[in-house]
Amino acid sequence: GSTIGILGGGQLGRMLSLAASKLGMKTHIYCPDANSPAFEVTPHKTVAAYDDEAALAAFADAVDVITYEFENVPAATAEFLAARKPLRPGANALAISQDRLAEKSFLASKNIPVAPHRAVESLADLEAAIDALGLPAVLKTTRLGYDGKGQRVLRDRADAAAAFAALEPKPLVLEAFIPFDKEISVVVARNTTGEVRAFDAAENVHRDHILFTSTVPADIAPGLEKHAAMLAKVIVVALDYVGVLGVEFFVVPSGERQALVVNEIAPRVHNSGHWTEAVCLTDQFEQHIRAVLGWPLGDPARMADVVMENLVGDEVLTVPTGIDGNTQPHLYGKTEIRAGRKMGHINKITRRS
Ligand code: ATP
Ligand code: MG
Ligand code: MG
Repeated sequence: GSTIGILGGGQLGRMLSLAASKLGMKTHIYCPDANSPAFEVTPHKTVAAYDDEAALAAFADAVDVITYEFENVPAATAEFLAARKPLRPGANALAISQDRLAEKSFLASKNIPVAPHRAVESLADLEAAIDALGLPAVLKTTRLGYDGKGQRVLRDRADAAAAFAALEPKPLVLEAFIPFDKEISVVVARNTTGEVRAFDAAENVHRDHILFTSTVPADIAPGLEKHAAMLAKVIVVALDYVGVLGVEFFVVPSGERQALVVNEIAPRVHNSGHWTEAVCLTDQFEQHIRAVLGWPLGDPARMADVVMENLVGDEVLTVPTGIDGNTQPHLYGKTEIRAGRKMGHINKITRRS
């Protein structure tokens, strides 16, 4: 079997490691934090900083292929590793998806609809961007934001200066506020031979800016779901992508019908794809491992309707007494419960097909 190197030791790395293990593969987790949940599921580990060249070189020597579970892998780290072993998805996917502005420019260049936006490096830029886009609008850091951290909704011109000062790191991007009906996402996979398969779309609800539920099937027109899958496929082909990619969409009213705007992409397995482990012939974790190993992709067909619910903070304590026989819990083994921390999720089967 092969050894898959994984950068990042969070729950996504843990779930990738479990999926690889099921296929008889080893994983080697590289993460600076010794308390990472992924370390518990494999004996092969490196605890070191992402700029520790000796540790990175030893890691590259110990593995056959390298992937990652978070999009903020430093560019220098990606470059250093890619010179030694195949890095999948590639450094281009990382560079684009870790910078909201680069991401939006890339998507727009492929004729994929994104929110109207402007680069903001100064308060004067912000004033001009508000003139151009109107209010409300969403001011975001271009880098390092997640779970709504690193963004502010501007409703009033008077909000601008304080929001500009508060958001770090600069530069920022101002996006028009999209008055969406709902949010959906598609998890898509592409392998080394160019095979592409998409999972069904999930309908996502956020709570306190953190994903709360993903419901499948999404309550949208069948044509819209096909369109979302098509856009996701265009993105992975354009990136010459290998692995699983998450694509988040706003569903916006458009006359009698609805249209799609891409919010962001994530070059990794995605929280809104955790439902696949309960109800798909191949789940997103196995699909990512198959893709990065150069295997044929698995069938993503869905066997039941499902709602994935994140267990955030002490909600994890509702397991096992708060669940029933149609509910699959998946806990991440994190020892310290903190408010706002993703501790696990449950998949509730709502209808069997
Ligand atoms: P994630 O945890 O998904 O990576 P993030 O911090 O990268 O989140 P976004 O996905 O950009 O942030 O935004 C978080 C949420 O804020 C979106 O899912 C959406 O609900 C809302 N939002 C973001 N941008 C806009 C916008 N331009 N118009 C309306 N709502 C928005
Ligand atoms: Mg994001
Ligand atoms: Mg998002």
